Amino acid sequence: MRYISTRGQAPALNFEEVVLTGLATDGGLYVPEQFPQMSKDDIAALAGLPYAEAAFRIMKPFVGDCIPEATFKKILQETYASFKHDAVAPLKQLDSNHFLLELFHGPTLAFKDVALQLLGRLLDHFLAKRGERGVIMGATSGDTGSAAIEGCKPCTHVDIYILHPHNRVSEVQRRQMTTVLAPNVHNIAVEGDFDDCQAMVKASFADQSFLKGQRLIAVNSINWARIMAQVVYYFTSAVAVGAPHREVAFSVPSANFGDVFAGYVAYKMGLPIKQLIVATNANDILHRTLNDNDFSKKPLQPTLAPSMDIVVSSNFERLLFDLYNQDGQAIADLLQKFNQEPTQIDASAWSKARELFDSFSLDDAGILKVIKDAYEHTGELLDPHTATAYLASQQLAKDASTPIISLATAHPAKFEEAVIKAGFKQGAALPESMSDLLERKESYKVLPADLQAIQDEVARQQLASRG
Ligand SMILES: *Cc1c(COP(=O)(O)O)cnc(C)c1O
Repeated sequence: MRYISTRGQAPALNFEEVVLTGLATDGGLYVPEQFPQMSKDDIAALAGLPYAEAAFRIMKPFVGDCIPEATFKKILQETYASFKHDAVAPLKQLDSNHFLLELFHGPTLAFKDVALQLLGRLLDHFLAKRGERGVIMGATSGDTGSAAIEGCKPCTHVDIYILHPHNRVSEVQRRQMTTVLAPNVHNIAVEGDFDDCQAMVKASFADQSFLKGQRLIAVNSINWARIMAQVVYYFTSAVAVGAPHREVAFSVPSANFGDVFAGYVAYKMGLPIKQLIVATNANDILHRTLNDNDFSKKPLQPTLAPSMDIVVSSNFERLLFDLYNQDGQAIADLLQKFNQEPTQIDASAWSKARELFDSFSLDDAGILKVIKDAYEHTGELLDPHTATAYLASQQLAKDASTPIISLATAHPAKFEEAVIKAGFKQGAALPESMSDLLERKESYKVLPADLQAIQDEVARQQLASRG
């Protein structure tokens, strides 16, 4: 499998190179040159398989011969053994034809674990093979940091540094990061805000000389391996409700478009998906683009579903590239225009998107009402992200005879504030495995919002780890 850039200028890479590379050198994102095909029989044969085995069959063509089969199988076994539910991503029936796909049984109780548990192990495998060490740097306003840290905890060739704004993340969010006491995990609390953290990470990627030759690796949502890992549960859940003999619809809480793009990949691989609903919060760029062909930025609005608070959806570029028949120059031109002024997608590309995608946006008041209503009707307590997809399923499903699967992207216990605002006396309980989170020992360093101070700390720790 070869991977090409959405802007058409960067060199093609194989899977190993793509996992170790973030953005392409032309500013684009890497995508497979062609989507591998799963026949009806291939899909039917996934029924009843353990999740790791289904994952192997679905991901194998993307990996090609970059990892020996037995090794890849072992990596997948370990990856999904870190989930607390045997099914990894179980389905719950809510209604005669409405299902909830629970993606929150991983170590940090959010769907990002599904991909980051795999990405950490893939990086470790490739770096070990090359005899290199890799350094991950990231900034977090809360959630992604802990999923990245948990993903790197088992790695022996990766050191991870996560910057969070000091005293500006919730105690549960901070503790999910700072109680991971592995020698390769470094939490830095920055005396500044999230933008300060992000700016210092960006500057460090732009000039990596402070690392003295070690490789800086990005694990953000544009890493291809994250998309690939997410394709799997579209297949396993669709098969569980009758695919390939029946069509299926999905409703997906969306921000950077990584999760729902994985659904699109499953569709391109042959999964009979009738409809993909893109559910957003008040940060509605995807909804405005898909519904009205208004491809423009709006200022960030903090919401009760913070993991969906974005201005630009980076992975949307991957869909555009496919809709534009892989014309990298046209994508580069479109995005240049988009960065300067409100614009539109080419009319035929937009119509093509509308054949499969529908979209939806829900503000905070709507989210609170859904949490309350859904509980009354189904007995399920939804987290505020999942709430957007739940209502979108009910309002936009094309026909009642097609099963529709709403993706549950986080455990409600992570979002106590929203649950209480929705009218509940208290938040949902943390699962057993995390019930002592508030008593665990923490480790983190507080540093000023100063690039030199941060880079000195990273360089000092790296020198120590090289021994
Ligand atoms: C990241 C995240 C999303 C959005 O996923 P994208 O791939 O960015 O579209 C939705 N819900 C939760 C809980 C998340 O953490």
